Amino acid sequence: MSATREHDMFNPKMEAISRDELHALQSERLRWTVKHEYDNVPVYRARMDAKGVRPEDIRDVDDLRYLPFMEKTDLRDQFPYGLFAVPLHDIVRIQGSSGTTGRPIVSGYTQHDVDVWTELMARCISAAGGGADDIVQVSYGYGLFTGGLGAHQGAGRLGATVIPMSSGNTQRQIMMIKELGVTMLCCTPSYAMYLGESIREAGIPLSELKLKAGCFGAEPWTEQMRRQIEEVLGINAYDVYGLTEIAGPGVGYECVAKHGMHVNEDHVIPEIIDPVTEQPLPYGTPGELVFTTITKEGMPMLRYRTHDICTLDDTPCECGRTLVRMGRITGRTDDMIVVRGVNVFPTQIESALVGLEGVAPHYMLIVDRVNSADTLEVQVEMTEDMVSDTVSHIQGLARAIHERIKSVVGISTEVKLVAPKSIPRSEGKAKRVIDKRKL
Ligand code: ADP
Ligand code: ZN
Repeated sequence: MSATREHDMFNPKMEAISRDELHALQSERLRWTVKHEYDNVPVYRARMDAKGVRPEDIRDVDDLRYLPFMEKTDLRDQFPYGLFAVPLHDIVRIQGSSGTTGRPIVSGYTQHDVDVWTELMARCISAAGGGADDIVQVSYGYGLFTGGLGAHQGAGRLGATVIPMSSGNTQRQIMMIKELGVTMLCCTPSYAMYLGESIREAGIPLSELKLKAGCFGAEPWTEQMRRQIEEVLGINAYDVYGLTEIAGPGVGYECVAKHGMHVNEDHVIPEIIDPVTEQPLPYGTPGELVFTTITKEGMPMLRYRTHDICTLDDTPCECGRTLVRMGRITGRTDDMIVVRGVNVFPTQIESALVGLEGVAPHYMLIVDRVNSADTLEVQVEMTEDMVSDTVSHIQGLARAIHERIKSVVGISTEVKLVAPKSIPRSEGKAKRVIDKRKL
């Protein structure tokens, strides 16, 4: 049963809709959304007026480009209710995002919005092989963060047995996985990895577990990490993408092909834009992901700039879904640095360091301007073993790193190998860049 389940579509009518039908549906829903937003959200109406765009100018998906963008700062500035498009009476849920500084951001959902989000996660878990016979452990955090409740609702919609574990207490998590015969796991990829390593350390053989698959997301991860998680837990690991502003997890979800995440285009329209010129880019070209919700009532978002960098792929997928796929998130425009006119992402530097013997995966980029020329120093931590090595060996390693970075990013950097544990650790999202030019 489990082998065929992996191909199940929760909603084949939408997941395998013809592109023409989808275009018509999206256009109709977009027209409704623009009018709903214009009539009910004064700040956005003012922005459209300033641009000289009237709701009736937007007739088709292709007219999207005429609409102004929305940004995370809009959510902060309009906190708490300025972007809500329905009376609070109709809002049944508030979710929020941690937000790194200042005011948090919140999103409001009507019952219909919650139902849609629930279906998106049901599609995701179903694509990963989940159904009514599964026991799903949800180890994303519950609360304002959308991970826990999102996975919970989706698994429940499939009729699965849901264990609302939330995050933390790893020993208890492992006990539940083993004793309750958990078949699917939903959590962040880094926590999945940690759980897997802890299971291995506890000496529990995988044959004693019933785990078969997991839906992992909420943070960037790599193919290499997928392979490690699959091996250490003995499962299929699938990527899931989402953000509070749009719905929560389930905006994009992977199928059995494990080759990009299908975007639920009957509810959101994705675009890729050039983050600098703000012009739309064709499928296949990397750029900033922008979403427009087309069914959301509580807090619709028009052309919301995610700052996430990826590509969109509309080539047919072997699973039969017709929804476009988004590739892995390879970086964020807000950690992008421009050095001597070249865009550099910390993830590019990271990819150049992966697999090099003698270096730890901890690094810091220091940008400066000397005699009106930009400099980029890359500090990389050495491993304990490397510290005691010969000077010539260490210099050789620094040269190798320099070459690798040059081939990935295309510019010369100054590589400095630093002592183990000397780069500050962060409990949240790591800080990778110090830009002295702004000081
Ligand atoms: P925040 O993390 O800013 O508090 P959210 O919890 O809404 O807010 O997180 C949304 C962000 O998390 C996305 O914009 C993206 O950067 C990241 N993210 C979510 N899912 C994934 C994924 N599968 N791969 C990479 N990044 C992801
Ligand atoms: Zn597919």
